[in-house]
This record gives sequence, C-alpha cells and structure tokens, in this order.
Amino acid sequence: MASLVTKLVNVLGDRTAKALETGIGAHTVEDLLRHYPRRYMVRGELTDISALNADDEVTILAEVFSAKSRPLQGKKGSILEVVVTDGNGKLSLTFFNQAWREKELRVGRQGLFAGKVGLFNGKRQLAHPDYELIPDGADVDGAIDEFAGKYLPVYPATSKMPSWKVAQCIALALGALDEISDYLPEQIRKEHNFPSLRDALIGLHQPKELSDAERGRARLTYDEAFLLQLLLIVRKAELRALKATARPTRQGGLLDQFDLTLPFELTGGQKDVIAEIENDLAQPHPMHRLLQGEVGSGKTIVALRAMLAVVDTGGQAALLAPTEVLAQQHYRTISSMLGNLGHGGMLGSAEGSTQVTLITGSLSAPARREAHMQASSGEAGIVVGTHALLSESMAFADLGLIVIDEQHRFGVEQRDALKSKAEFPPHVLVMTATPIPRTVAMTVFGDLDISTLRELPLGRAPITTHVIPALEKPMYVERAWSRIREEVAQGHQAYIVAPRITADSTSNADMDFLFGVKSNDLTSVEELAPRLHAGPLAGLRLALMHGQLSNEEKETTMIAFGKGQIDVLVSTTVIEVGVDVPNATIMVVMDADRFGVSQLHQLRGRVGRGTSPGLCLLVTNAEPESSARIRLDAVASTQDGFELSRVDLEQRREGDVLGASQSGTKSHLRLLRVLRDEKLIDQARADAQSVIDSDPQMIQYPELAGTLRVLQRDEAAEFIDKG
Ligand code: ADP
Ligand code: MG
Repeated sequence: MASLVTKLVNVLGDRTAKALETGIGAHTVEDLLRHYPRRYMVRGELTDISALNADDEVTILAEVFSAKSRPLQGKKGSILEVVVTDGNGKLSLTFFNQAWREKELRVGRQGLFAGKVGLFNGKRQLAHPDYELIPDGADVDGAIDEFAGKYLPVYPATSKMPSWKVAQCIALALGALDEISDYLPEQIRKEHNFPSLRDALIGLHQPKELSDAERGRARLTYDEAFLLQLLLIVRKAELRALKATARPTRQGGLLDQFDLTLPFELTGGQKDVIAEIENDLAQPHPMHRLLQGEVGSGKTIVALRAMLAVVDTGGQAALLAPTEVLAQQHYRTISSMLGNLGHGGMLGSAEGSTQVTLITGSLSAPARREAHMQASSGEAGIVVGTHALLSESMAFADLGLIVIDEQHRFGVEQRDALKSKAEFPPHVLVMTATPIPRTVAMTVFGDLDISTLRELPLGRAPITTHVIPALEKPMYVERAWSRIREEVAQGHQAYIVAPRITADSTSNADMDFLFGVKSNDLTSVEELAPRLHAGPLAGLRLALMHGQLSNEEKETTMIAFGKGQIDVLVSTTVIEVGVDVPNATIMVVMDADRFGVSQLHQLRGRVGRGTSPGLCLLVTNAEPESSARIRLDAVASTQDGFELSRVDLEQRREGDVLGASQSGTKSHLRLLRVLRDEKLIDQARADAQSVIDSDPQMIQYPELAGTLRVLQRDEAAEFIDKG
C-alpha cells in the first residue's frame, strides 16, 4: 500500500514513473494526485467537431463512423483512414502501417482522441492521434477501468502523457492509497461541510456526479488559501518574536526641528500612518509594515519622518529605490527638505544634524569608498541608494530602519539581503508603487502589517485624462502639441512619454510579451524629440531622458527639469515611478496602448502634483472597440488606483498577479485565484488566525504542523535555487 509521500516507482513501475516525471513533473503519489483535471467530458456527450481549430492540441470524445485500410500507392505499406463523428461533423484520423487497428476501431465505438488538428486538402484531420476507446460492455479486459464513471476527467496533457494515461495512473495510485491523514483541523472541515482530503481527491479525479468534483475542488481550493495564510501568519508571529532595538520617538530631536520647517499640513491619513509607524518603532521587535498608497498621496514624507525618528535614537536608516533616477531624486529631495539638518559634521550645521549619503552603482571607486565609510562609521544617518546598497561590502554602524520604496520592483530576497546588514534585525517599511487589491496584498504581503493612504493632500488639483485616437482624429494630436505650448506659456512643464528609445530598440521588450504585440513602428524618443523640436514644439526647451543615458546625464537632466530649465522632457518609462516635479502639468503618452493600466496610472501621477490641474493625453493607434482601447478608456475614466490595479490584474495570468515574491508558495497554488476567491481568502485567513490564536505551536494539529513544515522547506529550497 502507498501513502502520499510514496515514490511513484513503487506504485506504477519504472517506465510509467519516468514518463510521469518528465511529462508532468510528478515524483510522488501526492504530486500525481495534485495534478488536477482541467474539466470533465461526459460519457456519451460527444465533442463539437465544428469548433476545433487548426493547430489546436485537442482531446475529443467522438464515435467511429468508418474505418478503411488501403495499400499505399506505389510503395510498401498501408494507410488506415478512420473517420470519427460527433453526430454532425466529421474528422478524419490517419494511421500509417497500422492496419491492425482497424479491428478495434469498429464503427460505433466511442473513444477519446488526442492530437494536433492539422489541415489536409482543406479538411481538418488528426494525424497519428493517440486514442483510448471507452469500454462498451463487449470488452472484458480492463484490469483497471479509468472510465468507470460517467465523467471523464481531462488533464492538462503533454504528447507523451495523454490525458487518459494520467487518469489511468491516478486510478492506480488512488487504488493503492492507504487511509491518509487529513491536515485540515476537523472543526474547520465540519464548519464548512468539506469532504475529507481523500474524498476530495477522489471526487476531483473520479467524480460519480459533478457535485463530487465541485465539493472536492471547493475543499482543495480552500486548502491552498488556508495553508498560505497559515504560513504567512506563522511567519509574522516569528518575525514579531525577534528582538530589535526599540526606537521610541524622542522629543526635541531632529524630527521635531524638521516638523517645524514642513511647508504643509500633513493629511489625516499621513498622520494615522505616522502614528502606526511610531508605535511599531517603539517596540523591541522589528516592524514589518507595508505602506501602500495612491500615487501622489505623500508616502515619501511619511518614510522620511520614520527615518528621522530612528536617527534621533542614534541609529541609521537606509532608503532603497528601484532606479537610479529615483534614488537620485530621493537624495536631492531629502537633502533639500532637511536643509541645514542634513549637513551633519559640516561647519555651521544645525545642532544634532545628520548626514545624507547617496550610494549607487555608478559612483567612482573613491566616491564609493567614501560613501561606504560614512555608512560604516555611522556618520551618515540616512543612506539612500539603489541595489548597490545590497552589495557584500556595504556595512552600517547601527542600521535601525530599512525603507524600500516602490516595492513591486523588489522581491522578498532583497528584503532579506538588507536585513542581514544589521546586528539585530532592523525595522522594515515597504512602500508600494501601485495600490493593490486587498486580497492580493494579503497573499503577497500577508506577513506584513498593512497601512493604506487613500487620500491625496488637500488642494491637489485633479488630473484629467483623454484618449486620443491618432488615426481617427489626427487633428487632436496637433491639438495635444498646442496644449503643451499653452502650458509652457503659463510657466508650466510637460512630459512626453514614448515606448522606445531608438527606432529599433526594445526598451519595453517585456511588454511585447505581455500584450502579444510586436511592432517596429512605435514612437521612439530619439526620433520624436527632433521632429517636435523642428515642428510643433519649435522654440521650447526640450530634453531627452531614457535608460541608456549615463547616470550623470540622467541626473543633470532631472535636476534641470526640476529647476524649470527644461520645458519638455521627452522620455521613456524611466520616469514611471516616483518622479516628483510639481510644476509639470501635462503629459502626452505616445502609443499608450503599449503600456499596462497600472503603469499608465503611475505615469500620469507625474502631473497634477502641484496646485494646477494636470492633463494626461493618451495617444493611440489601437482600433476602436479593441481591448487596448477599452483598457485606455478605463484609465481615462477613473483616478482610483485601487480600481485600476484590479482591471490590470484581471488581465494577467495568476503567476504574474503574484509577481516575483512568494515564489516558493506560488507553485502550491493550483486552484486558488486571488482576485476571484476574495471571500474564500478572507475566510481562510480568519480560520488560520483562530487556529494559531488558540494553539500557537499547533500541538493539537500535528498533521497540519507537518504540512506547514513541508511548505516552509519548499519555499526555502526555491529561495536557494534562485540565489
Ligand atoms: P508618492 O506617495 O507618490 O510617493 P510623494 O511622496 O512623492 O508621493 O508626494 C507627492 C508630492 O506631494 C510631493 O511633492 C510632496 O512634497 C507633496 N506632499 C506630501 N504630503 C503633502 C501634504 N500633506 N500636503 C501637501 N503636499 C504634500
Ligand atoms: Mg514615491
């Protein structure tokens, strides 16, 4: 007999086990049983043949209509042509030199046929299909009858492992399986009226009724949500149990002096989040908080206050940004906001002041040495940087807080790399670029406490967005350029965003993949800028911005733009996140259909940051009614980033929804869909929480504890693989 961890070789024999290993990556009985059917075919309900498309890989249920073997002309051998039908349409199957099959492919027999639909003389056919006939009573062989029931499971199949072979193996495995222990606590099972684990698996693989499959699926989907939430809750508890240096807010320090110089009133939301963070920092355990906020909601200032609170206790804070442009901007903003307070160690610096240091990959060797020295000596209270902060040689005197800006660019791995730089685990504040729906946040960042900033600062002017269909309304594009001239005439500035750097570059190659489009005539920064300069924007001060510029060039340009010495910045998406120039009021996005919904929302967040209204024009060649146009209309119709991120995520595959983080657990999510299954995830979270609240060590639930350990181990293994 077998258990879930039994190797398949011991149940199915060498060859089959090998085939399953290469075919579907299954090593153990459990791996195999977790290979769930995609759908079911009903015995007797034949597949609609007219709906098959050429080139599709199909598994169909059909009936043999005719079978005829004839010799090949002028050659040795024979050809067997079998025609199958669904009662209306017909499809021909051809076999070479397999005349013997004529005997079993008798007229009237039903079977499953699998292969790639080809065209021959304009007719669809399956060449050399795999097939499995359904026992029709006349058959008495069948040591196992994988088609015992009315419902025939259809598995995601590969050519080596057709669906029914998987079904056969699963039938064997289920037959050999001993009683299995169920990790789901009994009271939860009862409360939700779930079948046992064994019954759920049987129901899914061999349903007598479709309701068996549904119940099995419901339970197993719940299991995924429950185990993941349990994992995150346990991790959160473990983090909370760690010791960290408490950093209680101190009166009369840098923070107080800084508050006096703030040129605006903090929003209610900012105050709430600040209170949460100050409370976290005062604990002798590390903070792990996610701050997600609408674009422009003022996350930076919240982070800066937290950093100053830590500096006031004699510690250091590191701010990690995803791009060089953003790291440089943060450095400049923080330096200028701090003014005298950030000139620690210099003549005439304010009492108790600190020093801000920038560390990026492009520093010269001596400059880097100097910066590293400032960090390791503790002279620098605030260290701002890119990935360079993660390098081996980077050391801090007393790292008390890590702030990670625009987290969607960073994985769990980076969080961990930085944490290892402190003697005690530092406090961690993660900020997201894109607001994400609550259940996605719970799934991706479920081990963090979450704060949300929905409100924008008072007096912030709204951003109006319009879609400009360039092919239908070329006049509107002209109008866009004159709008830019008007804004500049009023002393404002503009962004023009294009998807490419040069005509043939692929600065957004990742998006070709996302949208399945490939085109060579996309607007490029290097073509567009001179064209505008010589034409509609003549006389304005234009500058280029893109990822291939040197870091000095990028920095000089951004500083000049920030100071208003450039009217129009023609840029790729390097300015997508974080860039903050309140005097910029208009943005024109070329080939806007090339960008994702959340990306466009981020991009337009660059305008309307001051008190003058923002205008965003999305120029596109996409056809009316196309999905690209619908996406753009969605962006134009709302300014609610949470709503837009939902639109965005709904169009992605599940793996992309969860992103790079949680990679280890992701492979355990087969049935769960974070957007669709919101209620279930909420329920599972509450259930998992009550299990841990009542029995933190899971002493009453040894199977559950064991299952969790396996998950944790898999996650760790995945982490190492990627390292
Ligand atoms: P994001 O949340 O997108 O990172 P930022 O932190 O860059 O937003 O803030 C956007 C702009 O709003 C900045 O210019 C910042 O100085 C300003 N700001 C932040 N908080 C307030 C406030 N309470 N009142 C007015 N302006 C604010
Ligand atoms: Mg920001």
